[in-house]
Amino acid sequence: MTQEEQNILSQLNDVQRQAVVYDDGPELVVAGAGSGKTRVLTYKIAWLLEHEQLKPWTILALTFTNKAANEMKSRIAQLVGDERARYLQMGTFHSVFSHILRVEAQYIGFQSGFTIYDETDSRSLIKNIVKQMELDDKKYKPAEVHKAISRAKNDLCTAEQYSNDGSRIEQDRQKNMPEVCKIYLAYQQRLHQANAMDFDDLLMLTHELFQNHDDIRQKYATRFEYVLVDEYQDTNFVQQQILWQLTKERQRVCVVGDDYQSIYAFRGAKIDNILNFSSRYEHAKVFKLERNYRSSRLIVAAANSLMKHNQRQIEKNVYSENEEGDKLTILETQSDKREAALVCREIKRIKAQEHCHWSDFAILYRTNAQSRLFEEQMHSPEMGMANCYRVFGGVSFYQRKEIKDALAYFRLVVNSDDEEAFRRIINYPTRGIGNTTVQKIVATAQQNGISLWETICHPGQYGLSVNRGALSKLDAFRQLIQSFIDKRGASDALALSKEILERSGMKADLDADKTPEGESKRENIDSLTSGIADFVQSQQEQGLDDHELLSDYLSTVSLLTDMDNDDSSSDKMTLMTIHSAKGLEFGTVFIVGMEENIFPSLMSADSQRGLEEERRLLYVAITRAEHHCYLSWAHTRWLFGKMDPCVRKSRFLDDIDPKYLTIRAEDGGATIRNHGGWNRKPWDDDDYEINKPYTGSHPWGDEYPRYSSRMQNSRPVAGQFMADPQPKITKPHRAERA
Ligand code: ATP
Ligand code: MG
Repeated sequence: MTQEEQNILSQLNDVQRQAVVYDDGPELVVAGAGSGKTRVLTYKIAWLLEHEQLKPWTILALTFTNKAANEMKSRIAQLVGDERARYLQMGTFHSVFSHILRVEAQYIGFQSGFTIYDETDSRSLIKNIVKQMELDDKKYKPAEVHKAISRAKNDLCTAEQYSNDGSRIEQDRQKNMPEVCKIYLAYQQRLHQANAMDFDDLLMLTHELFQNHDDIRQKYATRFEYVLVDEYQDTNFVQQQILWQLTKERQRVCVVGDDYQSIYAFRGAKIDNILNFSSRYEHAKVFKLERNYRSSRLIVAAANSLMKHNQRQIEKNVYSENEEGDKLTILETQSDKREAALVCREIKRIKAQEHCHWSDFAILYRTNAQSRLFEEQMHSPEMGMANCYRVFGGVSFYQRKEIKDALAYFRLVVNSDDEEAFRRIINYPTRGIGNTTVQKIVATAQQNGISLWETICHPGQYGLSVNRGALSKLDAFRQLIQSFIDKRGASDALALSKEILERSGMKADLDADKTPEGESKRENIDSLTSGIADFVQSQQEQGLDDHELLSDYLSTVSLLTDMDNDDSSSDKMTLMTIHSAKGLEFGTVFIVGMEENIFPSLMSADSQRGLEEERRLLYVAITRAEHHCYLSWAHTRWLFGKMDPCVRKSRFLDDIDPKYLTIRAEDGGATIRNHGGWNRKPWDDDDYEINKPYTGSHPWGDEYPRYSSRMQNSRPVAGQFMADPQPKITKPHRAERA
């Protein structure tokens, strides 16, 4: 064995090592949180390169975020050297397959410059279709319709099949949206006319491509000698089908996952994926890893005790041999504001005491909206933590209006058939083209089965009936865009994008806005241009052609998420939803808002399935922690502009074995503890080991206000729902094209 091989294997335990060197067929690693699943994948890739001498571009690794792929790649680079790691094929399903679709676009009736519609584009298109079909837009909410379409696509149900699918039609009828199937049909048509795909199409069309063109499927099945998948428990039906299409002959496939951490059922992920793996790949070898290397013993024990309350799962005995560590701390505060303040103070205390970094801390919540109070606290002069944190999620940079406007110009230049881009900028900045004209263009395009752009290029030919004034304005717009298109090949992406901003009138429009918002919009546009400059430079450093740079840039941007803009070089604490925290680890974790109707969310609380998924979500949250884990809840909370004085603590707090818990309540007494009316299991002092009463020496000490008011009639908090986390899709990787 070479020195390098020994080096790889020496950093693994026995079972991990067996899993890494195994090469006799399909392989499934099922393992608890923090047991080294991602490590096994990483080292296995290094082993395939080093020992099996596979060429890097023949290894395909599919991860849940691009950030995860990058981290894996840099770890592999440390093991086998930069050069070999660089050409590994790694990324999310969406990024890898969008790239393949660009190369093979013609086979599925698209042009390779297709636009990728984001959630906002998709909803806007649906809204437009609903309007055109003269349906009631109160019944047919774009988000709901899009969800139904998305679910269908993830189950590989096409628009044509949808209309014959009795159970879907019935479901739509129950939701009072019987026409979804017609909207779906129109939606696909419009996407196609716009040479655009939505996120779900990237997978559905890949499947279709491989299904209908076996030669192409074989080309990729041959190219990828080994395929590896992280977080397998959260793949959905179409992703599993694609995996099968690529690996069915060779069966050189390794997937790792943890059924305890399956948290994307609402996006079609199936908890029994893992069980089905062995029936699909008949001779699959299963490895189980049970030792957790991440967390201290009490954290692991507490997380296990929580999961005893779930029924549908594979039995596992996850244990840790790390130090025993602290119990989990339950933090009870009198108000949501106090919760935020105490969490911030506790972070400061631990940081000072343990001399750790800001990046060792994470505040995790159920929904993005919960970050606000914590941010406010950190900005307060008392805390002085304004520069110490980063929020992931929420309205991302690329969703801001001015950024979407600028990108819409770029998109139209790259793919002039792009309908959403067209509608977005046809009259921005204002050029006197009204809504009626736009609707006429849309209608004419529909009648002729062409794009909006095509319609304004030949208005006479397609019978566009607008007056002469409108026609000449449309023509001026067409000429403007055409002049950019003509420059695409000739000028470089950065210069062209600057020119577009200038000559479109966008720059002047923003310059005219002297308000602070205007200022911040200009800064955003500046930062967009710097982003393009960076992109251009990095592509040139890799020796890539630059004539396609603008379209490459757009493709990259449309698959970006906030996670990918992570500048991990700066020392900041993390604020994010639990869904986005998957796979990550932090010294200290605060799980906040542990209250009924927030966590578990109101929506999930009425079904066993929903509750079990929420419980798994809490399991994911707790197992992110290495040393300290806090769960906090507040007795009063503002939601939707109303103060709820009778918040009930989350039932999950009762699911954790009390011997692993310490409680810190703001008044240190039982008054609060019995408050709230809801008690599945009595909130009894004897059940818990309690640090009380708090004394002046406690870090929060005397500053605790006493809390004594009692609320009699408890009622549920108005529901706060989780917005769908953005699909974790990321930059297309580029090595293959190089
Ligand atoms: P998750 O379920 O959260 O995705 P995971 O199973 O993928 O976790 P890793 O992230 O691979 O686990 O590993 C968890 C931590 O344990 C990491 O910090 C990793 O470096 C460390 N670790 C894993 N295996 C070993 C080992 N054999 N020796 C030392 N450290 C290890
Ligand atoms: Mg992992």
